[in-house]
Amino acid sequence: MKNILRLCLFIFFGVILNTYSQTANSKPYDLYLLIGQSNMSGRGKVETKDEVIPENILMLDKTNNWIPAKDPMHFDRDYAGVGPGISFSKKMLEDQKNVTIGLIPCAWGGPPIKVWKYGAKYFNNFPYDEAVARAKIAMQKGTLKGILWHQGESDNDAEKSKIYLENLKELVANLRKDLNVPDLPFVAGEIGRFNKEDYINKIINSLPDQVTNTAVVPSEGLTDKGDQLHFDTPSAQELGRRYAVAMKKLFQNSSKKTSKRKPIVILTFDDAEITHYNNVAPLLSEYGYDATFFVCEFPARNPDEKKEYMTWNQIQELYKKGFEIGNHTGHHKNVTKLSPEDIEKEVNYVEEKCAEFKIPKPISFAYPGNRYDSISQRILKQRGYKYARAGSSKTYNPQIDSILAIPSYTVISSDKHMERVTMALKNLHAGDIIVLTFHGTPDVIHPDYSTTIASMKELFQFIKENKYKVIAMRNLEKVITEGN
Ligand SMILES: [Zn+2]
Repeated sequence: MKNILRLCLFIFFGVILNTYSQTANSKPYDLYLLIGQSNMSGRGKVETKDEVIPENILMLDKTNNWIPAKDPMHFDRDYAGVGPGISFSKKMLEDQKNVTIGLIPCAWGGPPIKVWKYGAKYFNNFPYDEAVARAKIAMQKGTLKGILWHQGESDNDAEKSKIYLENLKELVANLRKDLNVPDLPFVAGEIGRFNKEDYINKIINSLPDQVTNTAVVPSEGLTDKGDQLHFDTPSAQELGRRYAVAMKKLFQNSSKKTSKRKPIVILTFDDAEITHYNNVAPLLSEYGYDATFFVCEFPARNPDEKKEYMTWNQIQELYKKGFEIGNHTGHHKNVTKLSPEDIEKEVNYVEEKCAEFKIPKPISFAYPGNRYDSISQRILKQRGYKYARAGSSKTYNPQIDSILAIPSYTVISSDKHMERVTMALKNLHAGDIIVLTFHGTPDVIHPDYSTTIASMKELFQFIKENKYKVIAMRNLEKVITEGN
């Protein structure tokens, strides 16, 4: 049984490492999503055929391949032209020449902001869904650094402009959530001041007061191509440079914020071991640490073994002490070997027990043996789980890791394991997130997974001395969104 588990962990590890080495082959790109309407797409005349574009500016083409960036970048109309994308990238590269920029053009000429929503159709396209899908493809190659938004001409009247800000705020929130980058920089642009009327610019300009990490670039002094609607080529390019200045300012602000942040440690305890009740909870209280207990009914082979696990009354007491109770399946089943119906049954078992003992329905889940697949993830999501923990011994990076496969380090009192965990803790930077998984402390039935009280204390002491922030799994989103 143990060997099978180890084998599974080993295979799982292999997959993770493999994925990593693939991305490590080429330097990760700094990615920017370009969305909005025609002036983001670009309508400036392409008179820049001889323009030298650095080869480290790439764009995701219509067929989702990376190619050297050039105008027209967007493909919403066959008359798309020069937009702000390339001048933005050039300006971004000015003080960081070794970076590769990957642009994700997803603008469409014409649509009002109400079309920039999940499932909303615009002629034959779904602008929001396609942008998110393409951004996710791009994110296999790098880190999404920010969003450039230029839109508003189609909402520039007395009526539509009234609800514009709410729509824009919702759009920013949706993108950050769907792309899994909670504080993603978002820069909007004013529409051209040459438009016959202006209802929209003052509304766009109120965004930074209402949503963190957003900025607006002015269109002051920019000129149209003669139609009182679209920027001419020099203006589109100037607009791009202004986007870059605003984007850099957002980066500076957020790095100031990050440097004040502390590393975050999430403590999790698996399998409802009696030592959690007897040893862990008192020690956590002594340190003032919150934690998540992932409970299940571990199959006991005899009455002596049964004594090694908590009763539901004891689990209820942990809840009453303020700790989080998470779901570890009813009977510690490998969910990748279960039918969807059986996964539901196993998940539901713990939920019903919680209801019986007046413990809130869990929102955190830990995969038994750290094994998971897309089916189990889908079921957890449908059942309202916000977090699911896996293994793989690395820190959690919200930009790369699914929130339904949060990596964690298993803490075991062997020299090798303790050294690895201690190193990982020492190497944490501001804002880094690490999840630690404990089993029995100590563990009589599974000595291979045992942590001594002394080792646990040693880690708690290290965390305390370094002033790391300790949270339960349930507060993860809060610390990511609000900083700490
Ligand atoms: Zn377990």
